[in-house]
Amino acid sequence: MFAMPNMDKNLRIYVHIPYCAHKCHYCDFNSHVRKQIDWDGWLAAVSAELRYRATEQRPVASVFIGGGTPSLAPAATIASLLQCMRDTLPLLDDAEITMEANPGTADAGRFYGYHAAGVNRLSIGVQSLHNEELRWLERIHDADQAKQAFSLARSAGFDNINLDLMYALPSQSWQQWQASLQQAIALQPDHLSCYQLTVEVNTRLAVMHANNPDMDWPEESLACRFFQSTRELLAAAGYAAYEISNYARAGHHCRHNDGYWRYDDYIGIGPGAAGKHDTNDGGVYRYSNMRSPEKYIEQATQTGHAVADDEQLTAAEAAREAFWLGLRRQQGVEHAPYRARFGDSLLQQQRHACRKWQANGNIIDDEQHTAIHDQGWLLADEIAASVFE
Ligand code: SF4
Repeated sequence: MFAMPNMDKNLRIYVHIPYCAHKCHYCDFNSHVRKQIDWDGWLAAVSAELRYRATEQRPVASVFIGGGTPSLAPAATIASLLQCMRDTLPLLDDAEITMEANPGTADAGRFYGYHAAGVNRLSIGVQSLHNEELRWLERIHDADQAKQAFSLARSAGFDNINLDLMYALPSQSWQQWQASLQQAIALQPDHLSCYQLTVEVNTRLAVMHANNPDMDWPEESLACRFFQSTRELLAAAGYAAYEISNYARAGHHCRHNDGYWRYDDYIGIGPGAAGKHDTNDGGVYRYSNMRSPEKYIEQATQTGHAVADDEQLTAAEAAREAFWLGLRRQQGVEHAPYRARFGDSLLQQQRHACRKWQANGNIIDDEQHTAIHDQGWLLADEIAASVFE
């Protein structure tokens, strides 16, 4: 392990729960269906990895328990996990602790148990409030179950709830998407994440896509309209965009994910989880774990870690990555902290790479920050390519 500089900086922890009741055709997350889930084995392995990685006592500002379907986990397992964290690292009293939940596995007892264990933010994978779309997505819930999961979460005490939604599905009209969005807004969540459906390699959807060229996949121009109109509609409803796909009421942005875009250090534990930290030479070390739950459990329980891949980024590579991640935020890259971390020369290089986007008004660049202008969001991929040239 490399020594971590910036010891006064807070740390974030991502925990991966790799199990699902069903594998959706579009999913490329590290998720696996198992008849019997070895919760004790998973808990022992992630606890061992946590102890292994907790070599530096940096305060933990946020925890994100993602998957997979974390809401399959018994409340006692989550309580033991969080207790292990408190015993191992200084978890701040006001730490944001998020857990993902699938409406198809929502259970009152478990929701109350998660909240009692210390989870204070729930992210519910609604995806759509249109039953036909949910069936097409192979989700295990319907629209009513999604709404019930939301009210169950509120009753269990969650006052910080995100809903995940997905747009640009085949044959989806703007009216259909707008109806899902309006119903989601009517629930009054604190945060909304709206993602465009993308066809990822090595998924069943990729095979469907290749075999059905005549299927009604949305044109790029329609997907762009979805994106822009979603921003307008959510802004009017009081949800400000603070990242490409994320919207929040005042004070409810996801602190954990914002940490990724700020290029903070984080520990990733669990099968397929990834982590990163700054190194003393100005670069970054990062790793990702074995994806197979069984192999991970065996290896991490024995040795405390189960790394499948790792790499070292130079300061220049890290600077490029950090700049792009910063541009994903509505506020963009703040020059003062970026300069303090990477130096003025790397900052000027990145600003220079964005010059042509400034000239056509897609990037705003002043003394304090560099940010994508509202009209530039649709070109985000091309802007990213210039940053990485
Ligand atoms: S529920 Fe989520 S993580 Fe599980 S298979 Fe479906 S999309 Fe993937």
